[in-house]
Formats: sequence, structure tokens, C-alpha cells
Amino acid sequence: MYLTGLRCVSCQRVYGVGDAEYLCGACGAPAGEDPGVLDVQYDYAAAAPAVRTALAGSRRDLFRWLPLLPLDEAPPVPFTGGTPLAEAPRLAAALGLARLWLKDEPRNPTRCLKDRATAVAVGRALAAGRSEMYCASAGNAAISLAGFAAHAGLACHVYVPADASATRLAWLRHYGARVHVSAGDYDAAFEEAEAAGAANGWYSRNCAFNPFLVEGKKTVAFEIAEQLRWQVPDLVAAPVGDGCTLAAAGKGFRELQRVGLTEGRPRLIGAQAEGMQPLVRRFRGEPPREETGDTRAASIKVRRPRNALRLLGELAASDGLLVAVPDDATERAQRSLGADAGVVAEFTSAAGLAALAAIPAAERAGRTAVLVVTGGRPDEL
Ligand SMILES: *Cc1c(COP(=O)(O)O)cnc(C)c1O
Ligand SMILES: [Zn+2]
Repeated sequence: MYLTGLRCVSCQRVYGVGDAEYLCGACGAPAGEDPGVLDVQYDYAAAAPAVRTALAGSRRDLFRWLPLLPLDEAPPVPFTGGTPLAEAPRLAAALGLARLWLKDEPRNPTRCLKDRATAVAVGRALAAGRSEMYCASAGNAAISLAGFAAHAGLACHVYVPADASATRLAWLRHYGARVHVSAGDYDAAFEEAEAAGAANGWYSRNCAFNPFLVEGKKTVAFEIAEQLRWQVPDLVAAPVGDGCTLAAAGKGFRELQRVGLTEGRPRLIGAQAEGMQPLVRRFRGEPPREETGDTRAASIKVRRPRNALRLLGELAASDGLLVAVPDDATERAQRSLGADAGVVAEFTSAAGLAALAAIPAAERAGRTAVLVVTGGRPDEL
């Protein structure tokens, strides 16, 4: 492994590998707005030649990128990552983009980008001899963990909000997870999960808590760059809940530069729902307020985002944008993904396309863009 340590994104304190498991002990308070999420650091000079050797190999899943992951070897998990990047010329023309590609994350084992984080988390749990895992989730992270835990024979406890859809609960039951349905929302489920996880000593699959999960998610950026022959797109869009996914993509693109594979970085374009947009308000420098609205974008319906600082840092580093889109725009975007590009995306994922459509036309004109289609189960649109 090329890990050198863990750095707190809040107070910048640095921990040695093995000196911190989850959050920063100095920032500590898990209930706080910026809980002290840690960022995994690497020796990029040493990792660079190993990355090139790995790329010459035949591996096609996310462990193709093992030198930039926090694992000694690829774990025995279902094939994850290595998803297609499909060009969508009709959508590009409609948006005034030079070119647009869709990163097809529903091709992952449980139909969602979350599997990238789960693959690394399960790998870390297996390497540490842990046998029980947990997470809080609007549904996708829980389904992902449940599927991978079933495959590995690990016990799995998932905490979901009261409004988790019947389809999502059915997938969880199908995988044999122990399902705890909160009386409250995702934020309530998150707190219940952390309390139970700490009390029982289960291994965490919460992305804004366990620092190693973002490492799995960042591989989506590695793949996009390789699929575009190391020409990074001008824009990369994705929906934003806790902030881990888009921030991870930003980290991935920065790391590609650090190991000398790419020049330049894309602008990150994040989408929140108009009815639940705490990060958009913070991005704009507005004072925080209680989020009382609602949205159908269940996978980004997060009142108190836990990876805000990481995301804001990546947005600043990429000259990115974060926009709020109304559900009716997301609905149009979802229909357009199907009818104009032949792609099934869950409602939340279509918000990324709605965000691309919502930025000023001048920011799109003549540009190349990638939309990360973060999830899409055909039975759950
Ligand atoms: C979790 C999720 C997101 C948002 O990811 P965050 O890390 O919470 O910002 C976006 N789309 C889908 C489909 C998701 O499941
Ligand atoms: Zn800290």
C-alpha cells in the first residue's frame, strides 16, 4: 500500500495509518455539522510507477487501481466498477454541448455507484477479520452493503428512513439484511446507525464516517479519464446528498494529475434538489437554516450533509458549481435520459442532468461533459 496517513478535512490534523479508524479525534463531535471526516493520503511519487504497471494489466474492475486504494490486494467481492462510458449525442445537441458521455453506474452489482465504496469497505472489513457491518442509507448504500455482505457471508445491519420505498425494502429483504426502519428521516437513521455501530463494534460502511469509502468512489473519475484516453472532460456532473460522491470524483481527478496521467481537471457540477439544498446554501455563503422542504430525489434527501467541507474544497479546487433543481426539471431530465439516450436512471440520478441544463448556456457551449448516472434499478424509477 502507498498510504501515508489520514488528514482531517476540518482541522487538517494528520494521523498515521492505523492511528484513527473513523473520524478525527480532535474534531470529534459526530453530531456536529463538520464532524472531522478524514482524507486518505498517499505517496504519489511512489505510487505512480505502480499505477502504470497496474494499467498494463488485464484487470477491468475498480481494483485495476489498487496502488491508489487502501488495500494490499483485491478482495473477493463481486465485479465492481469497469462500467461503460456511453456517448449521448442527441442529449449533447439538446444541451448545446460539444460532446456528452454517460457513466453507466447502474451496471454495478446492486445497480448503483455505491458499490464502489462497498467493495473497498468489505475488503477492509475482511482484511481486518471483521464479521458484522452496518450503514445508514436512503436505500442505495444499504442495498449495496446487503448484497456484498451476502456474497461475503458477513452480517449486515442497515438503517433506513421511514419513507424508504417498498422496492428498496424488498431488495434489502432479498439480500437477507437486518433492516431497521427509522421513525424519522435519513438524518435520524444516520444517528441511530452510528449509535448502534459504536455500541456493537460493527464495521462501518458510512461514507462520511469511514474514510476509506471515498477511496472506492473516486475510481469513477479514474475510469472516466482512462475511457477518454486521458483527456479530461470540461464538466463532470453528479447529484449531491452528503457530498461524498462528487467530492470523491474531484479527488480522483486531482490524483490522476498527481501521478502524471492527465493534465487539467474538470469543473465539478453538483445537483441538489430545490426542496432540500443545504449544500447549495452553504456554497453560496448563505446562513444555514432548517431544511423543511421535500423532494422525490430520495437518494439525495439529506438535511444535514456530513461531507460538506470535503465537497466545498473540491468545488473550489475545480472552479465547480452547485445548483438546486426543482423536481419537475429532474422529471423531464429522467424522461430525456430514457427517450433521448436509452438509459434508465433513478430519479435522483436525473438531477445531475437537470443541473447541467440549469447552468448558464455559455458554460456548456462547445464544452465536453460527463454525467455520472449514479444509479438506476429498472423496477424503481
Ligand atoms: C448516494 C447517492 C448519491 C449522492 O451521493 P452523496 O455521496 O450522498 O453525495 C447520488 N445518487 C445516487 C443514486 C445515490 O445513491
Ligand atoms: Zn479534525
